[in-house]
Amino acid sequence: MKISVLTLFPEAYAALNQGIIGKALEKGLFSLEITNIRDYSANKHKKCDDYPFGGGAGMVMTPQPLHDAIAAADPEHKAKRIYLSPKGEKLTQAAVCALAGESEIMLVNGSYEGIDERIIQLDIDAEISIGDYVLTSGDLASMVLIDAVARYIPGVLGSEQSTEEESFSDGLLEYPQYTRPQEFMGLSVPQVLVSGNHAEIAAWRRERSLEITAMRRPDLLEKLKNRGEGV
Ligand code: SAM
Repeated sequence: MKISVLTLFPEAYAALNQGIIGKALEKGLFSLEITNIRDYSANKHKKCDDYPFGGGAGMVMTPQPLHDAIAAADPEHKAKRIYLSPKGEKLTQAAVCALAGESEIMLVNGSYEGIDERIIQLDIDAEISIGDYVLTSGDLASMVLIDAVARYIPGVLGSEQSTEEESFSDGLLEYPQYTRPQEFMGLSVPQVLVSGNHAEIAAWRRERSLEITAMRRPDLLEKLKNRGEGV
């Protein structure tokens, strides 16, 4: 999979050269191509923003550098082009999984008050938000999306890790996890987890999953019920 990123802050993406995602990049399990939007500005001072028509606070990213940067990074429109935006559709695990099935995605990052609407009309296939709050630029949102999508790319997670039993994978939050030591500060690991009885362990985990989901995210249980899934 190829992920291209269009940004005014290319250095920020060094944060991805760490841990599991950094190793995956090193092994070439997916490629990350970063384009500095400013390099495409036709303005002699490489300006990429201007005052909003109609007035109002802040600046808006001008269309020319964005349009040219997008055309240069994806001349044949092979990529699914996504603009990270608080007005976009909220990113969910299902959307992450669907994006992981794409061969190319392009992440277009806004700054200031956002980008000229005509770029969305001309060049963008989808708008995605990572939550109901406003960030100063799309870059942190892009990195969240890249991290979440990369976990679905074959080989990125070791065989000991899996996306299959995680929170949201079956529409529920995950059960509690424990590791050694069996006793810690007077608290013991639930007996069933050391029983070796796999059926009982699976049943205990399912119960805890349902319990924690009902307590913290009843909306997820509602969704499952509406889809006709017995919970
Ligand atoms: N004026 C815009 C509004 O009220 O909808 C907010 C612009 S925000 C300060 C600057 C940029 O950050 C946006 O163009 C977008 O790329 C990114 N951004 C901010 N919040 C985001 C979110 N929740 N999800 C994804 N991207 C976001």
